Amino acid sequence: AHLDRIAAVDGDVHAFLHVDAEGALAAARAVDDRRAAGEELHVMAGVPIAVKDVMATKGLPTTCGSKILEGWIPPYDATLVSRLRAAGMPILGKTNMDEFAMGSSTEHSAYGPTRNPWDLERIPGGSGGGSSAAVAAFEAPLAIGTDTGGSIRQPAAVTGTVGTKPTYGGVSRYGLVALASSLDQAGPCSRTVLDAALLHSVIGGHDPMDSTSIDAPAPPVVEAARRGDVKGMRIGVVKELGGEGYQPGVRARFEESVQLLVDAGAEVVEVSCPSFDFALAAYYLILPSEASSNLAKFDAMRYGLRVLPEGVDDPSAEQVMAATRDAGFGDEVKRRIILGTYALSSGYYDAYYGQAQKVRTLISRDFSAAFDKVDVLVSPTAPTTAFRLGEKLDDPMAMYLNDIATIPANLAGVPGMSLPSGVAEEDGLPTGIQILAPATEDARLYRVGAVLE
Ligand code: GLN
Repeated sequence: AHLDRIAAVDGDVHAFLHVDAEGALAAARAVDDRRAAGEELHVMAGVPIAVKDVMATKGLPTTCGSKILEGWIPPYDATLVSRLRAAGMPILGKTNMDEFAMGSSTEHSAYGPTRNPWDLERIPGGSGGGSSAAVAAFEAPLAIGTDTGGSIRQPAAVTGTVGTKPTYGGVSRYGLVALASSLDQAGPCSRTVLDAALLHSVIGGHDPMDSTSIDAPAPPVVEAARRGDVKGMRIGVVKELGGEGYQPGVRARFEESVQLLVDAGAEVVEVSCPSFDFALAAYYLILPSEASSNLAKFDAMRYGLRVLPEGVDDPSAEQVMAATRDAGFGDEVKRRIILGTYALSSGYYDAYYGQAQKVRTLISRDFSAAFDKVDVLVSPTAPTTAFRLGEKLDDPMAMYLNDIATIPANLAGVPGMSLPSGVAEEDGLPTGIQILAPATEDARLYRVGAVLE
């Protein structure tokens, strides 16, 4: 049914870069056979899933939305993908994304944008717009996203779906093509909080293949999603996330959601996190710095594309590398490589990268101080509803500003969830509320999220 749905709507939505109908059907049939043979299977066995094209999938193309990886077929599965397969979840295909997960609209994909199923002239968020659009358009019941600076939560908000960024280290990054290694985290995209929890419990938990993986079992998220109560909980509304620059309809729906929490028995207070005002600036130095280093491996020798420079008879390795990176990377990727190498270069390192790391520490301290007072924090997920395709494409700063509310969680490594908060009156488009919890307390997101559903 999902393959039929993809065939019917993906020409318009373009959530997928690659559909593996044969592989998905074979996996589904294998589950049927095992079940018919009386085998006890995982509760998720047979539930199909779409995977963001940034996760290595054995035998299936993995492009990261970039021309530089065109034609690359990974020889191995990411740990997360192995866990999906082990649970018997058929993989429908790979979803579209901003190139190397850089962007907030999926317009930076080298393979054309994904469109928002609510309005095909609007963006589905980014970088994981393909995963959230696939879920919103009923092309897949579940999808995998990655969130380095909001790429699971912001697409969830603007497509009216649920998205969770687990605690940093809560889901293995082995086989996730790194954007910024200290920020990257994979997580579930879904239509309900319980679905997200079930998927979270499949992919979460320790992995010896990832040195930053938390050495503990996956948190008890399914129990929390089933329980869903906030009686006696203390909930903090972040003062710095929600004032000026937030669309009126986004704010109105957010306030209604907060009222629902009050009605359900939570105590709501305002909490100030003053360093959050500098989160965006710090992030857009730290991320390009790490990205410029991570992307150095695309050298025309090891993966995908190789372009020979024109008019050069016997090109050197450097010339092939330069020609390949020039042709293979898009503008946003080049912009960030230049920014990152500049911020890391001697003479500027302390002024930019070093300074940004200090701000990062202040943000973590703001979170710690806040979580001494409250159990979870809440804010709107994104300052606006889905903007129009092309609207911010030529204005990188305007694009970056859409990440204002999601970035602090990545800098501090804490978990966050976005869930639907109703549609904005002025444009009829979905808005999202974000819940943030202390590190490793992912279960709290589900407990609170289930009340708002
Ligand atoms: N909008 C963020 C960025 O462009 C999203 C990054 C991410 O979460 N992959 O960096």
